[in-house]
Amino acid sequence: MSIQFYNTLSRQKEPFKEIEDGKVTFYSCGPTVHDYAHIGNFKTFIVYDLIKRYLSFRGYEVSHVMNITDVEDKIIRKVVEQEQELEAFTSQYSEIFFEEMTLLNILPADRYPKATEHISEMLEMIHKMIEDGFAYKRDGSVYFSIGKFPSYGELARLDVEGMQEGASGTDLDEYEKEDARDFVLWKAWKEEDGDIFWESDFGKGRPGWHMECSCMAMKYLGETVDIHAGAVDLIFPHHQNEIAQSEAVTGKRFVNYWLHGAHINVDDTKMSKSLGNFLTISDIAKTPDDARAFRYLVVSSHYRTSFNFSKEALDGARNTMRHLRNFRNRLADVERVGGGADLTSLVSKARDGFVAHMDDDLNSPRAMASVFEMVSAVENLLGEDGVDRSGADLVDGLFQELDQVLGIFYSLPDDDKEELLTDELQALVEEREVARKEKNWARADEIRDHFLGLGYVLEDTPGGPVLKPA
Ligand SMILES: [Zn+2]
Repeated sequence: MSIQFYNTLSRQKEPFKEIEDGKVTFYSCGPTVHDYAHIGNFKTFIVYDLIKRYLSFRGYEVSHVMNITDVEDKIIRKVVEQEQELEAFTSQYSEIFFEEMTLLNILPADRYPKATEHISEMLEMIHKMIEDGFAYKRDGSVYFSIGKFPSYGELARLDVEGMQEGASGTDLDEYEKEDARDFVLWKAWKEEDGDIFWESDFGKGRPGWHMECSCMAMKYLGETVDIHAGAVDLIFPHHQNEIAQSEAVTGKRFVNYWLHGAHINVDDTKMSKSLGNFLTISDIAKTPDDARAFRYLVVSSHYRTSFNFSKEALDGARNTMRHLRNFRNRLADVERVGGGADLTSLVSKARDGFVAHMDDDLNSPRAMASVFEMVSAVENLLGEDGVDRSGADLVDGLFQELDQVLGIFYSLPDDDKEELLTDELQALVEEREVARKEKNWARADEIRDHFLGLGYVLEDTPGGPVLKPA
């Protein structure tokens, strides 16, 4: 069985077939570095990571390119307002972006090309489109003529009848489907752009946002890319326009598989700055456990199902992670040598289930269910001392293998810091202190075991008791 991906282009699952045997070229739309990225962006970046890790797990050699958008309308507005240098402004946010990627255990792409470093290549493409009649100049700007590209609208399933053919082109990078019209490839400089511009044969200006992904995807991955991914809101106009630009220039199919991750909601509402529910990683990940829990939440949800983030969901993920960590600790503690249950078929069934479900368009919730089925069975055996050392190693070996895909067991520099405790846990720590003073060892041990069950070790230090992840 091969991997099946839901291809947005055909709106159905298709068996994955790479262009060059055993190799996958993978392009994903990266961050616009004008602010902290929000958790919806990072949800998408974790989905890219899951796609890439799973392909690697299945033996493919993946070349991954993710762009950094370091010039566009929002950036220019802020740079001019704050009287900053473009590069200084964007690099502060790209630094934060890379730090937060590490916090979420996202494997680095092979390349992170920046838009500002590819202006001349974009201009070459624009000239070619003009020469071939796909684009036209007007008032120092250049527009793509969607009427000249017969398959325009295919990816986004636009109603071709409703397209604004002949309507004046738009200078906006983002607009609604109903407003589909000639879009901008090169934007003429305006006064409010300050000193941000590049010289061209059309005069001073800068490329439209869609140009960079066409240009950098093809420069680094070839004229036809195996997989291009992004969030669902990029289907139109961004990805639709990428297809038009790239295919107009090469005459070849630009991308074989388009993969799109669903939106994230916060407390069942769309996340937006105006609603005040716009969350960043630093808002939600106060501790390393939170960061891992967020990652777990994303990788255990189906990437195409819209995703609801809430405090309860994050707490639930923390508990599940704690449960799994605790389970692995119990495996590590197994001392029995020989004579335990034969776990071979249990482990291979879990592995087969995981792979079969992940092969099915990365159905990670079902894949995880296969793993949890095994966890419950092994927990029962552990409870009756039915697991020996080799059985424990076999089970933990599967965890290590599957973690190449999930990436949920990882350490972070802040792990050594004492964890922030909920009030309830803090009260228990204090109750144990009282019990110890009263020499009520039974109660003190009970509380210690309760913490162990949650995946914590309670250590007595001269400064008082400290909870550490077990
Ligand atoms: Zn893009």
